[in-house]
Amino acid sequence: MRILTGLCLLLLACAASARTAQEYLPPDSNLDPGIPAPESVLGWDVGDWHVSHDKLVQYMQALATASPRISVKVIGYTHEQRPLLQLAITSEANQQKLESLRLTHLGAAHLDAAQRDATLLDDGGPLVVWLGYSIHGDEPSGSNSSMLVAYYLAASRSAWVEELLAGSVVLIDPAINPDGLNRFASWANSNAGKEPVSDPVTRQHMQPWPKGRTNHYWFDLNRDWLPLVQPESRARIVEYHRWLPHVLTDHHEQGQYPGFFFQPGVPSRQNPLTPPENLELTRSLAVFHSEALDAAGQPHFTEEVFDDFYYGKGSTFPDINGSIGILFEQRAIRGQEILTSNGTETFRMAVANQLRVSLSTLKGAWALRGRLFDYQTGFARTMQERAGNKSFRAWVVGDDADPARARAFLDVLDLHHIQYQPLGETFRAGDEEFTPGHAWVIPARQRQAGLLEAIMEQRTEFRDETFYDVSAWTLPLAYNLPFTTLSRTPATQETSPVSSGIPLDRDAPAWAVPWNQLDAPALLQKLLDAGVKVRTSIKPFSAQTGNNLQAFSAGSLVIQAGIQENNSTSDILDTLDEAAHSGLDIFALKSTVTSVGPDLGSGHFPIIKPVKPLIIGGRETSSYGAGEAWYLLDQRLGLAAPIVELDRLEEIDFSGYTHLLLPDGDFAAISEIQKENITRWIKGGGVLIAINRAAGWAQELCFQSEETPCEPVEETRGKT
Ligand SMILES: [Zn+2]
Repeated sequence: MRILTGLCLLLLACAASARTAQEYLPPDSNLDPGIPAPESVLGWDVGDWHVSHDKLVQYMQALATASPRISVKVIGYTHEQRPLLQLAITSEANQQKLESLRLTHLGAAHLDAAQRDATLLDDGGPLVVWLGYSIHGDEPSGSNSSMLVAYYLAASRSAWVEELLAGSVVLIDPAINPDGLNRFASWANSNAGKEPVSDPVTRQHMQPWPKGRTNHYWFDLNRDWLPLVQPESRARIVEYHRWLPHVLTDHHEQGQYPGFFFQPGVPSRQNPLTPPENLELTRSLAVFHSEALDAAGQPHFTEEVFDDFYYGKGSTFPDINGSIGILFEQRAIRGQEILTSNGTETFRMAVANQLRVSLSTLKGAWALRGRLFDYQTGFARTMQERAGNKSFRAWVVGDDADPARARAFLDVLDLHHIQYQPLGETFRAGDEEFTPGHAWVIPARQRQAGLLEAIMEQRTEFRDETFYDVSAWTLPLAYNLPFTTLSRTPATQETSPVSSGIPLDRDAPAWAVPWNQLDAPALLQKLLDAGVKVRTSIKPFSAQTGNNLQAFSAGSLVIQAGIQENNSTSDILDTLDEAAHSGLDIFALKSTVTSVGPDLGSGHFPIIKPVKPLIIGGRETSSYGAGEAWYLLDQRLGLAAPIVELDRLEEIDFSGYTHLLLPDGDFAAISEIQKENITRWIKGGGVLIAINRAAGWAQELCFQSEETPCEPVEETRGKT
């Protein structure tokens, strides 16, 4: 029976019919019967159904309970409160001293000699390999295979697995995007038949908007490794830096090519900051993947199509941190099976391929461990030397009079372990003045020199001008913060500057909030929700605050004490104090008569009306765009944000809304009658926000009177 299974694994046809975990795994696995196989917990064989995230968690927890080789940790939670798991798999003996092994691996200086002797490898600790699955939730073969990988490492008593685990820590992130995985699993399973349908047109293969690729707010987590906006990314980055793996895998699916892809991608599209040795090591690992897939008769390809340029992707981020990141792209099945140019391919085949390349990664990394150790050790030194050869010594970044925005930027640096210090002297660069209390110095030469350069550089010339997508990401520009390079390291301070906001005078007649601040809209929403009357300045003004004359731009918020009939001044001040405490600059004004510009009682300070937005979504629109708007309004502003699909727009009466938000999309389906309704609504004071292709559509709206009808406008859709 075992011989038959072994032969079977060499043949494509048999791989398609693999069912139990044992049948997926190498014939010499010698599985410990005391460790639960996936089917014993799931109630069905891996690949028969798409695993839901709760079932995945249930199995991994059962495995960790049964196996002394596995420890499992909840590293965070998604928006939908699903746990983010990390499994650490190593030998039972190593499991007892996991933290010590980790510190040795990182080269922690505080280990004493006794601890060092007790660790695994004299030459710097264990091999650390991180296997990360299905960051795109509708590319689920990775997450489904993770159960087999974990089971194999927990249960196999083969000499190879025992040797590997004696010298390695294998970290498994079984579902990088649990909310997306669950959304897709629910769709695929609820459309599954007893007889699988391979016809690509069937409903099961055509998941509805917004699809399972993205997280709860429809963010692409595989662009978020660098900006770290979403909770999944923020939880994961802590563990990444805690472990600094030698190799990190990133398991995806693609729908365009008949074969399985693995990196290297197109060599000319590798980021030039990544050392050439990275490509060589990636190529050496690729030999192992190719052997594994050839042994199973599975078509594959490499050095084509995908690039390795944007460090916000899971397979590229490791490349600027001294790790080797590997992208895997299995042919997408999107259901139980699908007809491709190869014939009918099943979900089980996809799962089997992800298992194969997971094991070939472990095999390759173990065989190449000497080179991987040397590469990682040398990486930080190489990056620091390069930083030392630059014409500048440091960057300085100012706060743009918005401490909260600067704090958000510095928070990303903290998560990436990048060092900085408060500026200790004033200096000017061009039109920009950087002052102590409002600026930070980031030394170029530091341990994270490579990642820092990637975050700060403004690259405008490229060896190859073809990109998978993202080509620029200078982080201070994303936060709209002033920054420049410095040819000398300026004086710095030890302690961080605090908000320059003056403590609130509770007896003031009015308070003002500059609108350029990141958190000002959230404060406004909170005040409006409480029924507070808030005015905005339509002209700039200067007013006395304490002993200072403070300039305020147009758009500043003004809260006047005397007109708040529905709220006690005390309640309002509690809200303002809370916002000021969290970093918002709020100023108490001495008088409603200003020193420069209009006075507060003039007609230049209209009362702000509450905003009632409506976001248009649906399959004709970009879920990224709609999700970004939803996230911004809901999470950042605390504003309930209804979303209506385009095909329900006919039902909508716009009179109940103040703002209509159209993300990128094709809006040709909006009827002439509804266009007239929207036009009338805009004339009545409604605000239309149209982005990308939506702006082209909005250009066609007719604002002329009936006596002078609109001329047909030139087609612009798709060109903006
Ligand atoms: Zn993907």
